[in-house]
Amino acid sequence: MKNNLQNSNTLEDKKIDWNAVQSAMKKKLGQDIFDSWLKKMELIQEFNNYVMISVSTRFIRDWITSRYLDQILQIIKEFKKSIIRIEFVIEDKNQKSKSFDHKLEEKNKNFIKDNVSFIKESFLQYNRIDPNKNFNNFVTGPTNKIAFEASKKVSEEISYYNPLYLYGGVGMGKTHLLNSIGLSLKEQNKVMFISAERFMYQFVKSIKSNEMVKFKEYFRNTDVLLVDDIQFMNGKEAMQEEFFHTYNALIEKGSQIIISADRPPNKLTRIQERIKSRFSGGLVVDIQKPDYELRYKIIKSKTEELTLLNSNQINISKEIQEFISSEIKTSIRELVGALNRIISFSRIYNKVPNLSETRVILKDLLNLSENKVTIDLIQTTVCKFFKISKNEMLSPRRSRYLVRPRQTAIYLSKMLTSKSLPEIGRAFSNRDHTTVIHSVKTIDKLRKEDNELNINIDNLKNKLLYNQENEI
Ligand code: ADP
Ligand code: MG
Repeated sequence: MKNNLQNSNTLEDKKIDWNAVQSAMKKKLGQDIFDSWLKKMELIQEFNNYVMISVSTRFIRDWITSRYLDQILQIIKEFKKSIIRIEFVIEDKNQKSKSFDHKLEEKNKNFIKDNVSFIKESFLQYNRIDPNKNFNNFVTGPTNKIAFEASKKVSEEISYYNPLYLYGGVGMGKTHLLNSIGLSLKEQNKVMFISAERFMYQFVKSIKSNEMVKFKEYFRNTDVLLVDDIQFMNGKEAMQEEFFHTYNALIEKGSQIIISADRPPNKLTRIQERIKSRFSGGLVVDIQKPDYELRYKIIKSKTEELTLLNSNQINISKEIQEFISSEIKTSIRELVGALNRIISFSRIYNKVPNLSETRVILKDLLNLSENKVTIDLIQTTVCKFFKISKNEMLSPRRSRYLVRPRQTAIYLSKMLTSKSLPEIGRAFSNRDHTTVIHSVKTIDKLRKEDNELNINIDNLKNKLLYNQENEI
């Protein structure tokens, strides 16, 4: 306990100089980007290992998150090493006539009405239960179905499984499920939804301000306790002690406990054995990486959701939806992030990106396949398909049987790689970039008129992207 207190003291002494962070962002990302997106960000509060930043709209938050978050985090880390993530609060300045504190008080009042408890003078509960993450918009497949069903079950019948322990990698939907449980139970019950990190912060703060009695009352007086990311409780002995007693008191009075973590109970490190064994005593369910079907279902459902919200303005083609679903495999968070980028692009440029633009927008998420499709590979594949030699394709000759394959290869280079027009021209025996444009336009037009050519190009594209040999 002593350690915890000391740590937090020394860390709190070292406040982040936000003006300096802003200058660094300007320098690293450029004046334009800074002015358009980052200038209005405000540091609301810093914690041991994360910061809370306000922005004015969800759109700006999503845009910043999808494009600049990593770089901003790097910059903040230069000022405070221990920061590992950034949390956003949406704060509309135009509507804000009162001070922040007043606004918080108002929020807290709403929480009372909502039956969600809070500690006064703290905004840790700030917006914790998100109405947009519910059971209705949680898409299920074989990898997450059991977790979903178990979550629904406890929200229909408290203590049916107690505790319910959900685990899985980053971005698999754990927080979404915990949130959904909280949302559906909060009408009838006192619900507390907190991350292990915040629990710890609150714990240390209560000790410092001599409010342990309040702290205990606060946590033991709940019907449903949802603790997210329990792995972060590791090593904090005093807090684990307190958590253990809270846990027992809650179970004894029939409260429901739901825990999430990135690994199963027995793999948790530096967490007391007795706590791990309590966790193993309930229902333990994992969420695995989504398969293609689930990824596609999620993309489809999110696109529909957004189309409704934006009254049909953004019409992302099936081709793009399939492309994202097949390429973004690591987590649902990345998948949703990729879709958000496409939507931001569409709003800013007033058009939906095509496949080649999509590759550029998602470049950093696609790095594996990015290397896979090279202009050289495209030339070889197209030559083989049209039964011409590479020398013929690259020659200046303009015979009809060479022109079409050449244009096709140029077109595919534009669509499937992120090379610029001059770069593509150079790869085709130093042709001018206007030749590249002409080829792309010609094939684009022909695809609409000539069905056979259209199918051939689709097959070539599939072969290049997914190496589906038998399709050609
Ligand atoms: P975790 O807590 O496991 O890291 P999150 O619950 O934060 O992951 O999920 C990351 C993002 O993906 C969130 O935006 C969430 O709403 C979304 N998401 C995750 N799983 C699903 C799903 N099955 N259906 C719809 N959206 C999902
Ligand atoms: Mg989470």
